[in-house]
Amino acid sequence: MQRKRFVLVMASALGALSCGGTSPARAGIAPEDARVAAAVSALRGIFAEAALADAAGPDTAGAIEAAIRAAPDRFFELVAAAAAESAAEGGLLAIVDKASALPPDYEPGDLVSLNDYPLAATRKDLRIRKAVAEAALRMDAAARADGVRLQFASAYRSYEYQDGLFKRYAASYGEEEASRFSARPGKSQHQLGTAFDFAPIDDGFAETKAGAWTKDNAARFGFSMSYPEGMEPITGYVWESWHFRYVTRAGAALEREYFGGVQRYMLEFLAAYGKAAP
Ligand SMILES: [Zn+2]
Repeated sequence: MQRKRFVLVMASALGALSCGGTSPARAGIAPEDARVAAAVSALRGIFAEAALADAAGPDTAGAIEAAIRAAPDRFFELVAAAAAESAAEGGLLAIVDKASALPPDYEPGDLVSLNDYPLAATRKDLRIRKAVAEAALRMDAAARADGVRLQFASAYRSYEYQDGLFKRYAASYGEEEASRFSARPGKSQHQLGTAFDFAPIDDGFAETKAGAWTKDNAARFGFSMSYPEGMEPITGYVWESWHFRYVTRAGAALEREYFGGVQRYMLEFLAAYGKAAP
């Protein structure tokens, strides 16, 4: 029940991006200006939140705004494409972080087993959403063509699994330290079924060929490193070179070209703009 409601909320929020509200022409505003004004308003709303504004620094919102104004057609094309794919796949772009949790019984309805795909996994029971598995397959083929072998070590994790995982880390490191590198139950991107961890799940991954390759190439296939180096005040987590979330190909391009490569800014913008779109 809760799962269904969550998906519907996401679909309607993002679906609003392509729907017309008050006609800009009737209001006497050029359509282009109205579109940019709504986007800038949504953007400023996000950065009006004191904690994020402090973490992001004073120039971040201005830089994103300037990028939108410099190439608005490309921007809105990517927003529409990302929103359309997310809506078609039952909500791929939900914010799941320390402030936004999934319900305990949320489980994506379209999980597939990695065993059914020619992908290398470190364990047999990995599941991921169908759209993400197919994107992973395209990414894996490109990596192989470049002589790189990707190994998938973690994918979808249920609320209960995440609960056990976090409790084990908290027992070893204390809750505060554990929460810097492990999500509390309900707050993991893995529960959304859109995130992979590559092996090895440690800082050594960044030093491997696969680590270098995914950092440079994953975006071409719609994957984004959720917790980049030195971004803990913004992402809430220490650098996780091995953790990638699928954000659609258009979303990954949007993130890189307009949002400084910061997934959180892009996802928060899409959520805010979905409600404010003209
Ligand atoms: Zn992860």
